[in-house]
Amino acid sequence: MEYNIAVIPGDGIGPEIIREARKVLNAIGKKYGHSFKYTEVLMGGVSIDATGVPLTEEALRTCQRSDSVLLGAVGGDVGKSGWYDIAPNLRPEAGLLALRKGLRLFANIRPAILFDELKSACPLREDIIGDGFDFVVIRELTGGLYFGDRWTKEIDGLRTATDTLVYNEKEIARIARQAFEIARKRRKKVCSVDKANVLDSSRLWRQVTKEVAKDYPDVELTDMLVDNCAMQIVRNPGQFDVILTENMFGDILSDEASMITGSIGMLASASLGETKLGLYEPSHGSAPDIAGRNKANPIATVLSAAMMLRYSFDLDKEADMVESAVKKVLKKGYRTIDIMSGGCTLVGTDEMGDLIAGEV
Ligand code: NAD
Repeated sequence: MEYNIAVIPGDGIGPEIIREARKVLNAIGKKYGHSFKYTEVLMGGVSIDATGVPLTEEALRTCQRSDSVLLGAVGGDVGKSGWYDIAPNLRPEAGLLALRKGLRLFANIRPAILFDELKSACPLREDIIGDGFDFVVIRELTGGLYFGDRWTKEIDGLRTATDTLVYNEKEIARIARQAFEIARKRRKKVCSVDKANVLDSSRLWRQVTKEVAKDYPDVELTDMLVDNCAMQIVRNPGQFDVILTENMFGDILSDEASMITGSIGMLASASLGETKLGLYEPSHGSAPDIAGRNKANPIATVLSAAMMLRYSFDLDKEADMVESAVKKVLKKGYRTIDIMSGGCTLVGTDEMGDLIAGEV
């Protein structure tokens, strides 16, 4: 099969990590007989320098017409780059917001996986880690408190601020469907997280999620209150497979889940919409402090590319192959500087990419 991928290297370490992810995709293409065609798209600071805006209409259209989008990172050093002395809607990160909106992405998926070989980087006790953990947080991206009406005014002589949390049944059902579909590709367990003991929006969330669950009898659905979930993630993370939740709860829980894996250079992410077209990117930023020095860990981007194979192209076998290649390289003791520990072999960005592609 042929797949058209819009590739956005972006700024800082972006071009370096994207180059390595492409190496790994090409190795997969060669092994399994797929052809990945890449179209490079400018976004972020590099686009500001070239065109005056962080994302041109044409760049967005190229992404919309592709089968999927792979992004490195955008943004620079706020004090030094000059990309931040301009209006906020023209800064590098505004390109990312415009892209997410233009691709109609409403589901963010962040895996939290503890690799056996990196257990020492996990801040949890060994008896809590147990056999490790491998779960994903699926966060609704376009509704809830961050998008509701808000105002600040004086009421009875006191400055008073209001934010509103709105979800309709359609918004809840579409993200719930995503969660069940993703669970079907995993261990078939969805834990829906809400605050149904207090919030009306959560009670609707619970109802609609249960209705959607009827179409997925092979997937187990449980509910959990968000305060309990925050505790369970650090108490017994191994119990989770898919955590499904609304925007603000997901914002907080996905960061908590990231923290317990230990290294930012390992964290992949995907944002999906109604169609198969998704945006895949590492969870970290453009790391200007190490850019151009062959020090960046490309694994988060490589694992994001694996998510693209799985969720946009339905190439599960190929995605498994990428993930197992990463594990093999770690098992052999190769590390970039951010995950380096005693007795391991230090490698640069490009060598890490070569090693993973070699395992494929
Ligand atoms: P960052 O994630 O870029 O870096 C934080 C720290 O982690 C730095 O010390 C960096 O060297 C290290 N790090 C990050 N990725 C790494 C990797 N792959 N390998 C090894 N080390 C890695 O966060 P920041 O410094 O707060 O932000 C830098 C720029 O990135 C800012 O302009 C910010 O706005 C932007 N940013 C972009 C995105 C995105 O494109 N999605 C996300 C977050 C931040």
